[in-house]
Formats: sequence, C-alpha cells, structure tokens
Amino acid sequence: MQGPLPQVTEHGGGVWSLRVPIPDNPLGHTLVHVLDTDRGPVLVDTGWDDPASWTELTGGLDALGLSVREIHGVVITHHHPDHHGLSGRVREESGAWIAMHAADTAVVRRTREADPGTWLEYLARKLAAAGAPEDHLAPLRAARTSGRMRTLPGLRSALPDREIVPGELLDLAGRRLRAIWTPGHTPGHVCLHLEEEHPSRLPGHGRLFSGDHLLPGISPHIGLYEDPDDAIETDPLGDYLDSLERIGRLGVAEVLPAHQHAFTDSAGRVRELLDHHEDRLTGLLGLLATPLTPWQLAERMEWNRPWEQIPYGSRNIAVSEAEAHVRRLVKLGRAEAVPGTDPVEFVAV
Ligand SMILES: [Zn+2]
Ligand SMILES: [Zn+2]
Repeated sequence: MQGPLPQVTEHGGGVWSLRVPIPDNPLGHTLVHVLDTDRGPVLVDTGWDDPASWTELTGGLDALGLSVREIHGVVITHHHPDHHGLSGRVREESGAWIAMHAADTAVVRRTREADPGTWLEYLARKLAAAGAPEDHLAPLRAARTSGRMRTLPGLRSALPDREIVPGELLDLAGRRLRAIWTPGHTPGHVCLHLEEEHPSRLPGHGRLFSGDHLLPGISPHIGLYEDPDDAIETDPLGDYLDSLERIGRLGVAEVLPAHQHAFTDSAGRVRELLDHHEDRLTGLLGLLATPLTPWQLAERMEWNRPWEQIPYGSRNIAVSEAEAHVRRLVKLGRAEAVPGTDPVEFVAV
C-alpha cells in the first residue's frame, strides 16, 4: 500500500494518532496516540475491545512501520472501555506495561470482582433513592431475580501494572511526559502533558493528551462516581471544574484529545466548558424553585432529545448527571435537601 492509511494522522515530533472505531456508538472512534520513545513506541489509550477495532489498531501501527509486538508501554487516561478496552490484548502481544491512576485502577479491580447481582441491587437501590418510578426499577429487579442479565462491561479489562502518579514525569526514555490528575469524568482521569516544544513551534507550552477531559465539541459526561462501598460524598462536578481550570492554566500549544480532532486555543475551550456548566447550574437552580427529586430534575433538564425519547440506559446516566449537579449546588450552599422527604427532594436556597 502507498502512504499511510487514512486512519493515521501524523502530529510531528514523534507523535501520531490512529482512529480506532467504537462499534455502534455515535462517538465513532477513539484516537489512540502513538508516542515514539528511545525504548520503543508507547500508546496513549488503546480503544474498544472488539475484533474490528483490533484490526484497525494493528493496521494503523503497520502503516507506521510498527508491529504491535514492539509496543513498549501503554498509558491509560481513564478506565472507560473505549480507552482501556484493548490494553490487555496489547500487553499479551507485546509484554508492554500498562499504567493508570490508582483511583481508576481501583474501579477496574472492583468491576472485575463485581457480582452482577450485587451490582444490579446497588443500581436499583440508588435509582430508587433518586426517585425513579417503579416501572423503571422493575426490569432491574426482574433481571436480578431471574439471573438473566447482560454481562457487565469491563469484567475482563486488564489490571494495570504501573501507577500514574500525579505531577510526576512518566518513565519514558527520551521524552518529557508529565501526568496531571484531572478527576471529574472518572475519579482517576489523567491528562498527559508533553513538555516539549511544539514541532511547528506553535506558541504555548507543549502539547496535551487530554483523554475525555477536554474535547473540542463535546462536554464530557459528569455523573456520580459509582462505588457501592464508599460512603463518602464525592463532588465529581466540582472535581471536574477544578481540573478544567488547572488544565487551562497550562497554556498548551495544542490539545490531542481522545475523540474528534486535535485543536489549539485550549484556554478558550476551557472557558466555554466552564460557562456551559455555570449556565446549567443556574438553569437547575431555577427548576429547584420547586422541591424535586434528582429523577424529577433529570426529567425537566435539557438533553439532546425529549425525555420520553431517551432510552432506558441513557436515563440512568442522565439521572447520575443530574445528581452530580445537585451535589455541586449543595456543596456551594445554593440548594439543600428537604428534611423528611423520601426519596429525598432538593430545593434552591
Ligand atoms: Zn470516558
Ligand atoms: Zn471516551
């Protein structure tokens, strides 16, 4: 074949991206980045665990004159299956190490050990507490008692063997890649700052592999961190907004995200996302003039389609997002739980 395949983009300075498809998903593909090091190529994320995705990943490497057997290491931005799915297969073929932040490694470990019945029970309990109606809970309860349930995604995902430590340089021969902890989308999401001059000398401080934290045209999902064993009230939206400001301050020349396309003006994109969430929180405060459960709030929030048309699984994600926003408002002292309500209702203060 002449020249690189269309799914390969060269970014200069020993960095390439490969478009690895995500089956049946409107996102389309994950951008897997290849970083050349003195000990061999390192991947940032790997893509969805599917035969067609594997073919694209290895085909893309072939187009760069690389074999998957040469991969030296795998750096994972976060545990989601479109990022971490193929890591185990890459490690089997190459003996590469896999690095991840400890908080997301904990999620991987928990998911691998999860009993589907316990998980469904947790989900049903959590949705009931958020005010989900009985007809929404019934299928979960039926699946649990019948034993017929879909396998949980991530049951077989690879346990990382290295820890990404926030603020530290990764051990990559000949490269300066620093881990920046950016919790919010997941508890252990990291961005990776390539602290080297931009190959086209664009103004700014190097380049950023931003995972799902900072994307050019999508506001990443921020829900509650799902941990059945943790009683601590985390504030994922607060974490996300703090992480965004931290990334904005880096002043990078170019962002290499895990979906869509590379872009410059990171500070402008950070501002847009901060404004978007501020508008959303203000809108929710308006809705909470009347006491509402998180479920009722989710029904009234603006989504990409009317609530009646949102599929079952996406409603669960939407309610989690509504809860993350309510929790932020409570932490800010702008909303509070109405005493004595069950399921609990929230109201603006
Ligand atoms: Zn993700
Ligand atoms: Zn993703």
